Amino acid sequence: MKFDKIDIFNTKEQPVIIAGPCSAESEEQVMQVATELKQHGVNIFRAGIWKPRTRPGCFEGVGKTGLPWLARVKNELGMHVATEVATADHVELALNANVDILWVGARTTANPFAVQEIADSLRGCDVPVLVKNPVNPDIELWIGAMERLVNAGVTRVGAIHRGFSSYGEKCFRNAPQWQLPIELRRRFPGLPLLCDPSHIAGKRELILSLSQQAMDLDFDGLMIETHCNPLCALSDARQQVTPEELMEILNKLVHRTTVADNSDFRAYREQIDEIDRELMTLLSKRMEIARGIGELKRKMGMVAFQPYRYNEIMERYIKFCADGKLEVDAVREIFELIHSESIRQQLTVMNNNDA
Ligand code: PEP
Ligand code: MN
Repeated sequence: MKFDKIDIFNTKEQPVIIAGPCSAESEEQVMQVATELKQHGVNIFRAGIWKPRTRPGCFEGVGKTGLPWLARVKNELGMHVATEVATADHVELALNANVDILWVGARTTANPFAVQEIADSLRGCDVPVLVKNPVNPDIELWIGAMERLVNAGVTRVGAIHRGFSSYGEKCFRNAPQWQLPIELRRRFPGLPLLCDPSHIAGKRELILSLSQQAMDLDFDGLMIETHCNPLCALSDARQQVTPEELMEILNKLVHRTTVADNSDFRAYREQIDEIDRELMTLLSKRMEIARGIGELKRKMGMVAFQPYRYNEIMERYIKFCADGKLEVDAVREIFELIHSESIRQQLTVMNNNDA
C-alpha cells in the first residue's frame, strides 16, 4: 500500500491535534467551540454532522444543515475542518462544502460495501481521508478499508485508533488493544497514525493517560472530542472535555524522542539481544525434547495433551510472577504459546512416524 504524507499534518505542531465536538449541534455551538480552540492554537476542527448511532432514537446529527457552519469555521477562523462520511452522498456534499479532511467511522470501516462506495465516490478527488479502526479487533479489515481508498487513488490516507467494542462491564468504553495499532505501525511505518482517546475512554478522566500512552507509542497525533458545555452535549457527553481542559491535557503530555543513540542505550540493547539469543537457543532445545517425548508417547500409545501436566507447569510459571516483575497474564500467554508449539511438534512426530 502506497500513500503520501498528509500535508495538513506537516506543521511544526507535534503531535497533530484534531479537536471539536462529537456532533455539530447548532451554528452557535460550532462557532463557540471552534473560536475557543483557535485561541488556544488548535488548527484542525472536527465535528460530526451525520452521526451513526448504535440505537435509533438518539441524536443522529444535523445533516447537511451543518456544512455551512463548518465553512464558517474554515473561512472566518482559518481552521482546517474535518467531518465523518458514511455514504457516497455524504462525500459529495462534504466535498462541495470544501471540507478539508474526511474520516470514516468505526461502524463504517467494518462494512466493506460501504467503504467501497466511499472509495468509488472519491475517485479523482484529492482529499485526505482518515480511517478509524473497525469496531471489532480485525486489523485486516482496517487495512482493507485503507486499501480500498488507496486503490481508488486517494493517496493521503491516515489511520485513527479508537478502540474495540466488547460485551459487558469494562473500564474502557472501547478496549484499546494497543497491539493492533502497534502492528499497523510495524507494517506501514509511513502511515500517519492518530489516537482518539475520547472513544476509547468513554469518560474524560481517562483521556490524559490514554493520550500519554499514544505519545509513548509514537503516534502522530490525537483526535479529542471537545465541547464548551460537555454536560449538555447531545452525544458522547461523558467523554467530551472543554477547550481549557483540552489544553491542560496537552500541556501535561510528556514528549519523548524517537532517536536515542548513546553508549548506555546501545549497551542495554546488546544485553537484550544476548538474552533473546539465549531464549531462542533454550526454546529450540525445549522443542527438541518435546519431539523426543512425542516419539515416546507414540510408542506407548499415549495422547499428546495431558491437562494435569499443563496445569502443573502453568502453576509453576505463575509462581515466577510472585515478585511482581512479571505480569501473570503475560506469563500465561507466553506459556500457552510455548505449550501449543510443543504439542504441535509432538503431533508432527507422532503422525509422521505412525504413517
Ligand atoms: C465520532 O468520532 O464521533 C464517532 C462516531 O466515532 P467512532 O466512529 O469512532 O465511533
Ligand atoms: Mn463521538
